[in-house]
Amino acid sequence: MQPISLIAAEALLPEGWRRDVRFEIGADGLLIAVTPGAEENGAERLSGPVLPGMGNLHSHAFQRGMAGLAEYSGPDGDNFWSWRQLMYRFLERLTPDDIEIIATQLYIEMLKAGYTAVGEFHYLHNAPDGRPYDDPAATAERILAAADKTGIGLTLLPVLYAHGNFGGAPPVPGQRRFLFDIDGFNALVDTVMDRHPETPMLRFGIAPHSLRAVTPAQLESAVAHIKHCKPNAPIHIHVAEQEREVADCVAWSGARPIEWLLDHADIDERWCFIHSTHQTETETQRLAKSGAVAGLCPSTEANLGDGIFPAASYFAARGHWGIGTDSHIALDPFEELRLLEYSQRLTMRQRNILADRVGISTGASLYRGALAGTAQALAQPIGQLAPGYRADLVVLADDGTRHGDALLDAAIFGPNRQIVRDVMVGGVWRVKDRHHKAEEDAATRYRAVLNRLLAA
Ligand SMILES: [Zn+2]
Repeated sequence: MQPISLIAAEALLPEGWRRDVRFEIGADGLLIAVTPGAEENGAERLSGPVLPGMGNLHSHAFQRGMAGLAEYSGPDGDNFWSWRQLMYRFLERLTPDDIEIIATQLYIEMLKAGYTAVGEFHYLHNAPDGRPYDDPAATAERILAAADKTGIGLTLLPVLYAHGNFGGAPPVPGQRRFLFDIDGFNALVDTVMDRHPETPMLRFGIAPHSLRAVTPAQLESAVAHIKHCKPNAPIHIHVAEQEREVADCVAWSGARPIEWLLDHADIDERWCFIHSTHQTETETQRLAKSGAVAGLCPSTEANLGDGIFPAASYFAARGHWGIGTDSHIALDPFEELRLLEYSQRLTMRQRNILADRVGISTGASLYRGALAGTAQALAQPIGQLAPGYRADLVVLADDGTRHGDALLDAAIFGPNRQIVRDVMVGGVWRVKDRHHKAEEDAATRYRAVLNRLLAA
């Protein structure tokens, strides 16, 4: 790759919006220099305002194939648990080829929406009958291949899933494709990390699925193993998504899930608590102080009827947070941020709740907060247009009526739903004029897979 020079009329830098910003990008895909007030001087001119690419901290790629299939009312009322039954049936037939094809389609859609990195919380490890594949990393390899092919940055988080509920309850048959014992899991982590050296585009971490799915001893072992191999690796866990889960945790341990983790698991900035929807004010204050990231997935949490994250208190306590798309019922960072703010407005009956301080744009506060927390949770060199960071540039389609923070307010709260025009990841244009070069081929394969799965 040749060094590249670009110039943008307007770009969001760490210090705020700046005009006539020149970007020098090295052959390694990292930013060498970012200079506001610069001359064009042979640099390629970008067609609109530039944002740093957004990370997507929580994805289960295969669930993209299910989006929109669970929107019928059942006889006994629908909730997270009835949705989970449908999800278990859907994944019964997925092959490794299918997983790669669905992930490829999904990652192209993410790139086109302005996500330049993804945290894949990967738990579909085994064959449909529950036996491990000859290569226990067979499905993880398909995720790695899809990320590589599409050009999205990846933090692969292999999932430890060993039990069906709190207290080491046996798994149910629908969970057999997820299961690993602790030694097998630690070996899987070693295998994928040995085969794929980390690059600015690729990071590894782990994901103990939830306190339902691992025992305290397994959690301790998995965390000790990854900290030994890679001290700063991210650790993600689903926590407090559902009220029933909180009640089951209290019955098991006497503590709520967030409380239990804060008391027992040495929580710090390496951790990402996915959802963390249901928390007491004490938990909110403690979680904010821990430095961990709250991994919010507003569209999925709304779709599943999970509940509303106490963002106003958590943000006031300066807690770190980021966004993910989880089940991929929506694929748009601006939509996630809009829902996050609107959930607070609807419960509190006020406006502009999540702005950093009085007089500051809500959209800019949300976008910048999500950039920082998501980069932290993915442990990727993203989230800022600054030297040493990856050259992840999102060029907006601009009608020339908004500038600076008003661009973000319009992107998040305005009616324009196709605001991203071009996307560069690691110095390579992956989306140009809303087109990814692999999108036709990916969509054809994706349709064939879905038609086969849904016909069965
Ligand atoms: Zn999830």
